[in-house]
Amino acid sequence: MSSQLTHVTIQDGWFREVSEGSFPGQAMRLRVKQILHVEQSPFQDILVFESTDYGNVLVLDGIVQVSERDEFSYQEMISHLPLFAHSNPKRVLVIGGGDGGVLREVVKHDSVEEATLVEIDEGVIHLSKKYLPHMAKGFDHPKVNVVITDGFEFLNKLSQAPTSEKYDVIITDSSDPDGPAEMFFQQRYFKLLHDAIKEDGIIITQASENVWLKIQNLKTLMHDARQIFPVVELSSCTCPTYTSGQLALMICSKKADDDVKVPKRVLSKMKERELFRYYNSRLHEASFILPTFAEKILVDESV
Ligand code: SAM
Repeated sequence: MSSQLTHVTIQDGWFREVSEGSFPGQAMRLRVKQILHVEQSPFQDILVFESTDYGNVLVLDGIVQVSERDEFSYQEMISHLPLFAHSNPKRVLVIGGGDGGVLREVVKHDSVEEATLVEIDEGVIHLSKKYLPHMAKGFDHPKVNVVITDGFEFLNKLSQAPTSEKYDVIITDSSDPDGPAEMFFQQRYFKLLHDAIKEDGIIITQASENVWLKIQNLKTLMHDARQIFPVVELSSCTCPTYTSGQLALMICSKKADDDVKVPKRVLSKMKERELFRYYNSRLHEASFILPTFAEKILVDESV
């Protein structure tokens, strides 16, 4: 490690992700080559470091957001699950997503006419442009516009908007509940999302959990979403730098007979390989299959 910068999560050349509240008794470690940036922004603690094996890594409030080596799994799944579950997505909203990776994926869809990103912390965007250029290239696309404000407030204002201003797909690519993203895991947020999409609209949100961590939190999240949306399903992606190597993604539709587990548009295998590194239409369907213990808890509400 050559840098003079220090951070409380980095000792003896290793970054350690510890959260006794969220994942007691376990920790994820990455070996650090150099610390690139340390900052306390008005919203959160920001760390960017170069790892020895996972490229540059963005950490907010001590929790890994993205690493250059495995980010595509999360960015592709949280983007393409809802976009391919929709027959003709034109207007797309991303809440959070300051690294730009989700925008990079959203604009791959020819049908998308406008992709708006609402990020609370402009600092994350600046740092991504400097240290995560393969993700931040999403910001350069002509279909993209960026609004710097609180995503909850943005949606609150939108609830009065005419139908023409509503969205086909809303992707909540937020950080975890301990911090500025806290309200994204609450029922009143799901109501705002519901009111901000068109009648055939779809939303997806990172669930900040997986079946190995606090599965009861996932159950509560799905229960709350079911009070608002007629269709609520759970998918997941594998991602080694997220605790337990997996992150759950909750996808909801406003249309009661909508089967979001099956893509409504399928590209040729050749086209899929050209555009994506993780997502494909077979994985779209398979990613919704839950292990038996999780299905019992999450689908059978009585457990
Ligand atoms: N892939 C990541 C994950 O799940 O770990 C999420 C990445 S992205 C960097 C998360 C972004 O959400 C951050 O840039 C953060 O600033 C933003 N964010 C948090 N709270 C927000 C809020 N209230 N409104 C808008 N953006 C918010």
